[in-house]
Amino acid sequence: MTAARSLKTADELVSAGLIEPQKLPGIRAVADRYAIALTPTTVSLIDRTDRQDPIARQFVPDPVELLTTPEERADPIGDQAHSPVKGIVHRYPDRVLLKAVHICPVYCRFCFRREMVGPQGDGTLAPEELSAALAYIREHSEIWEVILTGGDPLVLSPRRLSAIMQGLADIPHVKIVRFHTRVPVVEPDRVDEAMIAALKESGKVVYVALHANHPRELTDTARAACARLIDAGFPMVSQTVLLKGVNDDPVVLGDLMKAFVETRIKPYYLHHPDLAPGTSHFRLDIAEGQKIVTALRGNISGLCQPTYVLDIPGGHGKAMIGESAVRAEGGCYSVSDFRGEEHRYPPK
Ligand code: SF4
Repeated sequence: MTAARSLKTADELVSAGLIEPQKLPGIRAVADRYAIALTPTTVSLIDRTDRQDPIARQFVPDPVELLTTPEERADPIGDQAHSPVKGIVHRYPDRVLLKAVHICPVYCRFCFRREMVGPQGDGTLAPEELSAALAYIREHSEIWEVILTGGDPLVLSPRRLSAIMQGLADIPHVKIVRFHTRVPVVEPDRVDEAMIAALKESGKVVYVALHANHPRELTDTARAACARLIDAGFPMVSQTVLLKGVNDDPVVLGDLMKAFVETRIKPYYLHHPDLAPGTSHFRLDIAEGQKIVTALRGNISGLCQPTYVLDIPGGHGKAMIGESAVRAEGGCYSVSDFRGEEHRYPPK
């Protein structure tokens, strides 16, 4: 059964057969705290016969989300500590996040900004707030790249996207504008000529980073939406969150990376899950993540290799956390190949 519109309440999820009625009180309690949304496309991807379905696990709420562990925090990657004006996060010298909107077409149950996104979240920047954010970018000549994230920036209307892109157009030091989005996968019809025209308004180089976590998300329709963006001149990269019960398997992860490359999307980041509240059921040990990532080496093309990263809690930025293939040993180096065999390499 395909829903005609997005499902946004616990009761709608029960009516759609995605949650057993006995779970309703628990899911209502989750809904009071965290936003829920599944687009019709997302609902159609769910295998209702599979209680462990990796698509359902990403989007259908679970009462276990009410459990917050001591390590978890409302702002796991420290956006607020690096926000000089509303809507801007300036963590690294050469780039800023521009969070113009805090709405998403779907709400991921593991979202690292789950306390900020949704109808009760931080909202959409008012025109004067957007002007102040653009003024900050204009005043900081070290900013080379502006990353639109949030929220999902591609839920904005073409008119609002145009306004942002026009605002960036006359800032000469900004060379790159990057969008982080799930829209081509979860609402592919939204990627139309009007959106593409709006993305071209700045005249800057525009990259689109697609968030997808399971190979089944890259349907023919999703791939066609990505092709429209790429053919319009926007290179695409991927971002994936390594999630227990979704993609914590080298075969599944490898198939996802291959699906990206087949779609002309270069695998970019594989994120270790953040310490967002109520998400401990998605997290795995870093050592397990390293093993999965190492298993990709050699088994699939170098084009398909993502960079495994952790956002250090507190806003200290990303660290690459894949296993190193090289270690110093007795005045030489020992380098391990993709089979795990060690080889000596001289110091120079
Ligand atoms: S699309 Fe991104 S910001 Fe929105 S709920 Fe998912 S992870 Fe969070």
